[in-house]
Amino acid sequence: STQTIDGKAVAAQVKAAVAEGVAELRRTTSRVPTLATVLVGDDPASAVYVGSKRRTVRELGMLDAHRHLPATATQEEVAAVLDELAADPAVSGILLQLPLPAHLDEGALIDRIPASKDVDGLTAESAGRLARGETGLRPCTPSGVIELLRSAEVPLVGANAVVVGRSTLVGRPMAALLLLEHATVTIAHSRTRDLAAVTRGADVLVVAAGVPGLIGAEHVSPGATVIDVGIHRTPSGLVGDVRTEEVLGIASRVTPVPGGVGPMTIAMLMQNTLEAARWAGTTL
Ligand code: NAD
Repeated sequence: STQTIDGKAVAAQVKAAVAEGVAELRRTTSRVPTLATVLVGDDPASAVYVGSKRRTVRELGMLDAHRHLPATATQEEVAAVLDELAADPAVSGILLQLPLPAHLDEGALIDRIPASKDVDGLTAESAGRLARGETGLRPCTPSGVIELLRSAEVPLVGANAVVVGRSTLVGRPMAALLLLEHATVTIAHSRTRDLAAVTRGADVLVVAAGVPGLIGAEHVSPGATVIDVGIHRTPSGLVGDVRTEEVLGIASRVTPVPGGVGPMTIAMLMQNTLEAARWAGTTL
């Protein structure tokens, strides 16, 4: 029998712990963690994501600072807003909502965020810190996966972990975090030869390929833990990168879509905001 890992429940626990930490910080230092979200343009999906992040910030007793720039904002204008937030001691964390309009240089703008306020963990400095195993804020989706694995007590030390996907947002930092947990890590991607042969070697299989139903029974060994990061909207509802019904009965644990990794991302963003507030005034 396969255990379904309940991401909604774990996310609720993480958020409850953050709310407690926020209250404690307010009591002991009178500091209130503040997340500044920066939205450029009017992409409806981005507006929804930012709205739900801001709402969760307030629900957990933190402060919500928001900047909305027009789709026509120049590189210099966005940079100026980020620099102002970076210099503002009242701002704990800065989140630049992606994707940016195509005329902007995304990497250059992300890198204006100081590592100590980089709650998405996407700056070059944060990525370097993760690669070197140094203190820093970690990307939210992969750290949510680690939290799910921890909550389900999945052994990672010495385990064979296979990550499908090598994006800067998910796959790469996922592999780096699993390495820090002392797993033996393999990264598969779109150029991998015989994907099934690679994934069948996994005790822990994390799938972030962005291909609906990519992974099925032929990819999974008995007893493996399968974490599905993929999210796809279809006429029949949300689906992931894993054909979950096929791996039930083979895997020991799976995450559902929806209700698996999805709810963890925002919970880890809240945890990062609290952590950034604890670091306030330091340079890391
Ligand atoms: P991406 O498109 O940037 O990267 C996909 C990666 O998968 C690439 O490295 C590519 O090499 C690899 N890949 C593509 N096709 C493959 C194949 N056939 N076999 C093996 N590898 C293949 O996507 P991303 O940003 O990493 O996101 C991946 C998925 O996770 C998407 O479905 C996305 O919607 C979802 N996602 C979910 C959350 C969340 O909060 N749960 C957050 C971010 C992304």
